Amino acid sequence: MSHVLEISGLVKTFGGLTATDYVSLTVDTGEIHALIGPNGAGKSTLINQICGEIIPNAGHIHLAGRDVTRLPPAERVALGLGRTFQITSLLDDMTVRQNLGLAIQAREGGNFRILDRASRRAEVWDEVAEILRSGTLGARADVRVADLAHGEKKQLELAMALSQRPRLLLLDEPMAGLGHVESQQMIEALQAARGECAMLLVEHDMEAVFALADRISVLVYGRVIAAGSADDIRANPAVREAYLGEEDA
Ligand code: ADP
Ligand code: MG
Repeated sequence: MSHVLEISGLVKTFGGLTATDYVSLTVDTGEIHALIGPNGAGKSTLINQICGEIIPNAGHIHLAGRDVTRLPPAERVALGLGRTFQITSLLDDMTVRQNLGLAIQAREGGNFRILDRASRRAEVWDEVAEILRSGTLGARADVRVADLAHGEKKQLELAMALSQRPRLLLLDEPMAGLGHVESQQMIEALQAARGECAMLLVEHDMEAVFALADRISVLVYGRVIAAGSADDIRANPAVREAYLGEEDA
């Protein structure tokens, strides 16, 4: 079984509203799985249940084979769950390089033996240099976060999330607020990260979704109304009616 994430029969109600309505969905190892749907469809509620910030009323969430339905967020992180947070999690007065260094140290938990410390520090900075070589941030390594453009902050946020070596990375609208060039750079960065981890990508930008997703699930009123390849989803009449119709006009 190669599912990194398996959601079955998940239900979440808020008062009389069913925000997650018997959702079942899998993400395979190495897969980029996009979750699309109109505003209010329940995408963020689903992501928050996977993270552990919201506990479902019914159903199960398995991460790497473990039932995590009721585990607190930190234990899910320890099992390989990663997410990009809002840009507020970046340290504004520190440079790109320093932010990455801190993220890698946090991954290590800081619990290496004292005698190893100097050599471990050198390894951390080597790893930071490697990350900076491979992405678009190399030329901006010693710039303070406060002086970065919005798209650069999003790139840094992604690099920091990937530096945690997650099995599954949750991405809630990584293209939001990006211009065309910045969106292209984000698509390239996510393509480059393909294979490092599986991704569940919530995104409104359909160009990005169709460029990246191996599979797409469509959520409407808390229900998965369709799931399949980009071609399946483009051709699905229910999806066109519920969601894509306006874009064809
Ligand atoms: P999406 O992310 O797809 O736009 P959400 O998951 O944010 O959708 O919301 C799904 C539905 O659940 C919406 O009708 C929203 O108003 C409702 N909802 C979300 N969070 C709460 C909450 N904490 N309390 C009450 N209703 C909520
Ligand atoms: Mg949302």
